[in-house]
Amino acid sequence: MTNLVWFRNDLRIADNAALTAACRRQEPVQACFIVTPGQWQQHHWSPARVRLVLDHANAVSGRLAELGIPMTFLTAPDFSAGIRKLTELCEARSISHLHFNEEYGINERRRDKSVKAALEEQGVMVNKYRDQTVAPVGSILTQQDEPYSVFTPFSRSWRRWIDDNQPAVFPVPEAAGEPVRAESFNPSGIFPDEFPEPPPALVKTGEDAAHAQLERFLDNRAGNYKALRDFPAVDGTSMISPYLANGVLSGRQCLLAARERAGGDQEGLTTWTSEIAWRDFYINILYHYPRISMRRAFKPETESLTWNPPGDNFEAWKNGRTGIPIVDAAMRQLNQTGWMHNRLRMITAMFLTKNLFIDWRLGEDYFMSKLADGFLASNNGGWQWSASTGTDAAPYFRVFNPATQSERFDPDGDFIRRYLPEIAKLDNKRIHQPWAGGVIPGGYPRPIVDLKASRKEAIARFQALKN
Ligand code: FAD
Repeated sequence: MTNLVWFRNDLRIADNAALTAACRRQEPVQACFIVTPGQWQQHHWSPARVRLVLDHANAVSGRLAELGIPMTFLTAPDFSAGIRKLTELCEARSISHLHFNEEYGINERRRDKSVKAALEEQGVMVNKYRDQTVAPVGSILTQQDEPYSVFTPFSRSWRRWIDDNQPAVFPVPEAAGEPVRAESFNPSGIFPDEFPEPPPALVKTGEDAAHAQLERFLDNRAGNYKALRDFPAVDGTSMISPYLANGVLSGRQCLLAARERAGGDQEGLTTWTSEIAWRDFYINILYHYPRISMRRAFKPETESLTWNPPGDNFEAWKNGRTGIPIVDAAMRQLNQTGWMHNRLRMITAMFLTKNLFIDWRLGEDYFMSKLADGFLASNNGGWQWSASTGTDAAPYFRVFNPATQSERFDPDGDFIRRYLPEIAKLDNKRIHQPWAGGVIPGGYPRPIVDLKASRKEAIARFQALKN
């Protein structure tokens, strides 16, 4: 009997259900990872994410080799070609059991269904595990056994599940044999020449580096998380999202590490663990409502909104040239680093969908094409929240004023100055609204939209849906 562990969105050795189950069988274990450049491009994966995933797949291969588990890299243009490569590998290696952790995007689910059918026909046992969330996906339900569509009751139930079930992490499996030579994947030449260069790596490679970053945050900054998490100029959040989005860390590991420190009752840590609950909430939404990964709104009635043609305004938003400093600084942070602070994701997403009235799907794709932590469930959840088309969404009449948000969350303009050197010399008041009095320096644009009038117009368009 030979077991094959198929690594996908779970690029870690510790706390990995599929790997643990395969190793517990006390039979030979092998591993594989399928590089699918065409599919990733179709899903708008950013160069930053591609690099992070490939670096971590290579790191996993190195650690598996120490455990005596050889990793094979397969390359296929897309998921369907990947299925063929996988079935060929299983046949060539006489694999008896395939193990993988579930993913919940619609294309991933269809792929896994086809893999199961093809391999079972070949006589391979296919074992799937629900490992992406703290409580297994689908297990947090209302008393009527319905999925939650509002976060607060979901999170109450989620915390109850944790107290009742006391989840634990799976340790790193014991060596399955003598160390083997590690295979590594060289990405050169798999993408077309015009594939953009990734920005400098946002995080260090490897599970150890991920844990060190988590520990540093929990030891030094988590206590102030509640007070500081909304201020983009400050290092107030963990910045572990690139690891979580690609499975280098698990939500369980984060939750348990935080609970160990807090006894579960310290304010900053409790607020922070709610963010892990948000992640699980959106993964559950993706699982229960597959339409949201098919470009559909969670609230069907909002499908009939008529969005503005994207045109020049969309280009200005993407390039950080809208004339609204907090929006532009945020977009430049995204373009230059592959990450954006959560408060700014909300501000820029609301500005695109409510002030420019441009379809949230275009913003969702653009974020995905730049983020190192691009993650379908959270990105779609965040965009639909901002556009008031989603679950638990911001009510359509509550539209952030980006200039007011800027004064509140970047009061001294430190964040704006970091990304907009052309207006860095403006005083702390004008930096939020350079158009209000005097000449705008450095060729910085005037606002491309009137904030008050566009807000009114957006509310009217949502109100019209009701009539
Ligand atoms: P922390 O504040 O330290 O939180 C810890 C972890 O909790 C995060 O790493 C993340 O995994 C999770 N988390 C935090 N906030 C949220 C949230 N609102 N929803 C879901 N999970 C959350 N997050 C992504 O991981 N990938 C995305 O593609 C993504 N796109 C977003 C798009 C929009 C429009 C919005 C409003 C939010 C989006 N988020 C996304 C959620 C959030 O902005 C990021 O998770 C967070 O900024 C990551 O920084 P951090 O690791 O320092 O977070």
